[in-house]
Amino acid sequence: MVSMGTWPLVAGKLWYAGQKVKGRGGMAGTPEIFDVTIIGGGPVGLYAAYYAGLRQMKTKIIDSLDQLGGQLATLYPEKYIYDVAGFPHVVARDLVKNLIEQGLQYHPTVHLSETVRTLQRHATPDCYVLTSEKGEHYTKTLLICAGAGAFQPRKISLPGAAAWESRGIYYAVSAKETFAGKRLLIIGGGDSALDWAMNLHGTASHITIIHRRNQFRAHEDSIARVLGMGVPILTFWELKELVTADNVLQGVILVNNRSHEVRTIQVDAILPQLGFISSLGAIHDWPIKIEGHSILVNQQMETSMKGIFAAGDVAGYAGKLKLIVTGFGEAATAINYAKTQLDPKARAFPGHSSEMVPQTLTTINPGKHATVEEVDHLL
Ligand code: FAD
Repeated sequence: MVSMGTWPLVAGKLWYAGQKVKGRGGMAGTPEIFDVTIIGGGPVGLYAAYYAGLRQMKTKIIDSLDQLGGQLATLYPEKYIYDVAGFPHVVARDLVKNLIEQGLQYHPTVHLSETVRTLQRHATPDCYVLTSEKGEHYTKTLLICAGAGAFQPRKISLPGAAAWESRGIYYAVSAKETFAGKRLLIIGGGDSALDWAMNLHGTASHITIIHRRNQFRAHEDSIARVLGMGVPILTFWELKELVTADNVLQGVILVNNRSHEVRTIQVDAILPQLGFISSLGAIHDWPIKIEGHSILVNQQMETSMKGIFAAGDVAGYAGKLKLIVTGFGEAATAINYAKTQLDPKARAFPGHSSEMVPQTLTTINPGKHATVEEVDHLL
């Protein structure tokens, strides 16, 4: 522990349970100052957004990914999770869907595809200012729920490949139309490679998948469905070289990593789906106490800087367990103590959410409808 010294606005795009959500813009001109800005829209950041809304805090979430859900959405959307309280088992994707529904109900502003890089204290107005590659964010308090750090797609290591990003090589699909009528090469053997092959079938004129092994992380069912669509899956083939002419991607040279056979195929677009890498990045240089990859916090989840809190995998203290459920509790603690800094008259304890809507609870005392006061007493 450290001793203390409406609809969301969407910048980038917000995918809500598979649907694109329309955004509502903020005021242009003077900086908009938020009560709390949450870095990271993983499970813990989303739950924090719920609590911040409950405490009537003007809230912003920023995530480097183009979707909410953090590790659950990115690394294991199809896996069952068995240790979230109240769910004997839940598919990660479904837990994210519920967290989004719960976390966005008070309409926080959400910025996706944006990585927070710098932190500074701003004099007038007195607040913190964060910067990203897209702009500045003004906030009175900050909650860092950055998990293992910002996720970035793992990129292909071919020399010169970077120059073709967004004009031949795409690491994400922001609009399916980008691939309309194109000959597409998808690289990878995971769920996202196979899912995109199914999704873009009928949009791209032709799709080929290459994978460097013959073992797949993707579901067997997805592989069977992709093959059933007539999409060739070439195993043991890797990308060797880009073929370009007149400043346009024309094709690729592939090499078989077993036979060393070389083959050229014509493609207009490449979609590498090679997983993600994460790193705390610039946060490491911030003037808060960090040990290893953990931001040190006290019992209120506050870091060594006043008004800056951390929760979830990124927060560290003696005895820390990196689990979703511990992150939820830490988020609730952090937000409720941030609230007391914004409003010294506010209590840290938020009250019971069950008291927000009058209800009759017959299970407490069957045959008699318990009043809220009685329930409170029982608790
Ligand atoms: P994350 O989920 O990592 O989310 C952090 C978010 O912050 C990311 O979306 C990232 O893009 C964003 N971010 C980071 N830095 C920045 C920045 N500078 N700017 C903008 N955005 C940023 N836990 C369990 O309790 N039960 C399980 O069964 C379980 N199974 C797991 C299985 C696998 C395969 C893995 C990998 C993990 C599993 N976990 C499990 C661990 C669990 O996923 C994590 O504890 C949880 O995701 C932590 O949530 P978080 O919100 O703290 O961080």
